[in-house]
Amino acid sequence: MKVDIGNLLQLQVIDLEISRLDEEMSEGGADLENRRNTIEGRKTTIEELETKLASCETRRRELDGEIEDETAKIKERQTKLMNVQTNREYQSLLKEIEDGKKGIKQREEEGIQLLEQIEGIQGRLEEQKNLCEAEEKLLAEATEKMEGVTKKLTTQKNKVVKSRDAKAKDVDAALLKRYELLRSRRNGQALAGVTDGVCKGCFMNIPPQLFIELQKDEEMLTCPCCNRIMFHEKATEEA
Ligand SMILES: [Zn+2]
Repeated sequence: MKVDIGNLLQLQVIDLEISRLDEEMSEGGADLENRRNTIEGRKTTIEELETKLASCETRRRELDGEIEDETAKIKERQTKLMNVQTNREYQSLLKEIEDGKKGIKQREEEGIQLLEQIEGIQGRLEEQKNLCEAEEKLLAEATEKMEGVTKKLTTQKNKVVKSRDAKAKDVDAALLKRYELLRSRRNGQALAGVTDGVCKGCFMNIPPQLFIELQKDEEMLTCPCCNRIMFHEKATEEA
């Protein structure tokens, strides 16, 4: 009786250690994954900014071309102005020149706004690129570090798993099966110590008669509340 509980308890300690190692490894993996996602998001932002910048620059070149064309047209009209025959023609040309000038002014204003926008985008782009570069460097460092940690943890785990396999052989097969089932359903803890009538798995009082039975250490008893295999805490210290 005592032997089986003792072995199960040792098994539980080993299993909890394995879970801890697994958790440590998956936490490290999750951290790297988070870093990678942040960088991916950053790269998307950079691409979007670059597209925006390119379209602003295209528009700016268009505006420059339009201003050039319009300036040439104004010059043409001004030349024509010297040779007009009628007042109507003269007024019409003047209006065209005036409209042309207005058009140029509008485009120049748009050009100034675009320039401001371009400068803003360039600033943001530089900031995002710097952040991305720094994050990539940190990711590379973290990945390298994680590789080392994983290697260490895996070695550690392999050792623990070996001792677990050896320990499991000491436990009766049916009992081991029960232990595994409980372990999977009770967050890794199949066994619970009972001290002064209180189950440490669920912190409930067990019936007094059951506690007396438990202290006799004659049969394997489970907590009526959480179903864990109970052991008297004192019995553990002896084991
Ligand atoms: Zn319990």
